[in-house]
Amino acid sequence: MSTAEPLVQARNVHKSFGDNQVLKGIDMDVFPGEVVVILGPSGSGKSTFLRCINHLEDMDGGSIQVGDQQIGFELKKGKLHRLSSRRIARQRQEIGMVFQQFNLYPHMTVLQNIIEAPIGVHKRSRKQAIAHARELLAIVGLSDKADAWPRHLSGGQQQRVAIARALAIKPRLMLFDEPTSALDPELVGEVLATMRTLADQGLTMVVVTHEIGFAREAADRVIFMDGGVIVEQGAPDQVLSNPQHPRFQSFLSRFI
Ligand code: ADP
Ligand code: MG
Repeated sequence: MSTAEPLVQARNVHKSFGDNQVLKGIDMDVFPGEVVVILGPSGSGKSTFLRCINHLEDMDGGSIQVGDQQIGFELKKGKLHRLSSRRIARQRQEIGMVFQQFNLYPHMTVLQNIIEAPIGVHKRSRKQAIAHARELLAIVGLSDKADAWPRHLSGGQQQRVAIARALAIKPRLMLFDEPTSALDPELVGEVLATMRTLADQGLTMVVVTHEIGFAREAADRVIFMDGGVIVEQGAPDQVLSNPQHPRFQSFLSRFI
């Protein structure tokens, strides 16, 4: 794994909202096929960091490279130039994101939700998009729901559709921001199982979650963020059983 080039290289990422310094220099590499789980208390900057990777927020400082693309910038004649919003939109098409709120289009069926971006944005043929959507529905365990309306699905099913929809653009990288936090407890397992399947298939994933069990079982690496910095990171069996930093210790003690 570590012999490959990183797919994501974040360097010294800074972000403030007004006086509120939210990210204070985040460095992170994510290697192809790696599953990185980010833990941390509310307000520590986890969502902001994911949103910077996907260019839903502008960084104030530092850089993020995904594949050979510098997020938000391009190198021309040795100088960094800010990209147009159109080019940024194109960069974002390589990255899938799943949010706490699934936000499916309510007026579209499950299948229509999934094929919308591939046809509308990626200009795939309808036939290709539908065939791929059906494959994705099989992966997330919802083959029988292609023609259902989102409102007729459980929260767990809707989130699995949202995952299929994010995968439909064939992203190189998937970002998950607390994908199970809005779900009733009995529905969390099915979504985590779906994510586990994707992890096992070698998808590169950065997952913000409070599900320590998922981190333990599915993560290649666990990162603990607090106060806009990475406080500790390592293999899950190492850091989750034997956290070194007092803040990480006290964070984890809440889950035991
Ligand atoms: P986490 O995901 O770890 O809970 P966030 O990244 O959502 O943390 O938020 C970190 C801090 O940034 C919080 O203090 C939050 O209020 C602030 N913040 C996040 N987004 C915005 C925004 N769009 N405008 C102003 N402040 C924001
Ligand atoms: Mg958050």
